[in-house]
Amino acid sequence: MPNIVKTTTFPSLLDVIAPHYCRGCGHIGKPICDRCEKNILRSNHNLCPLCKQKIKSGICSHCKNNKSISLPPSFIIGERSGLLNDIIHDYKYNSVRAYAKPLAKMLDYRLPKIDGTVNIVPLPTINSHIRSRGLDHTLLIAKKLAHLHPSYKVTKLLLRNANTIQVGSNHDQRIAQAANAYRINPKININKNATYILLDDVWTTGASLQSAVKILKANGVEKIILAILSLSILN
Ligand SMILES: [Zn+2]
Ligand SMILES: [Zn+2]
Repeated sequence: MPNIVKTTTFPSLLDVIAPHYCRGCGHIGKPICDRCEKNILRSNHNLCPLCKQKIKSGICSHCKNNKSISLPPSFIIGERSGLLNDIIHDYKYNSVRAYAKPLAKMLDYRLPKIDGTVNIVPLPTINSHIRSRGLDHTLLIAKKLAHLHPSYKVTKLLLRNANTIQVGSNHDQRIAQAANAYRINPKININKNATYILLDDVWTTGASLQSAVKILKANGVEKIILAILSLSILN
């Protein structure tokens, strides 16, 4: 078997104490080895979140021309299945922080080059989930994405309204709850010239993201793109 451990750099003390094993192939070195990361990107595809069609970037022409839906260009690592699903699950529910960096890197691979000011807006997580998991998983991905582009800033422009619980709700309840799930953070000024990357971990019904897009647009945000770790095909 090929040796994928980098021998050109010394491992950090933490790596020596607690080495990572690739979640995909078990090789020692990184939480996800370069080869498994490439495999995820190759075996997946950017998808139109609305019709699940494979697309190069943004949104498919069919959905773009549908005037009743107004969705910003979307960029997705891939379908929520296989290794990508395993990683996201462990990251989100078992708080495996080490997956934040490779997930951000894979998402960045899908994203277009953006000129000018870029603000990343993580879709706010329910506070009780942050407390119980000890991790704001979407915020951490946003920070890792910003590390890859020093000019990008993370902004908590959206706040979550109280009593909006999604887990366990049925499809109709989720859509109804999502409609008033968020509000604009009054402490943050909106820059109309900036591009806002609205970030979330999964597109299931799309209700949360669509509701967030509406609020951003209603408050004068003009340039929005969606960055989503995965798309759930089941719903
Ligand atoms: Zn691997
Ligand atoms: Zn479509």
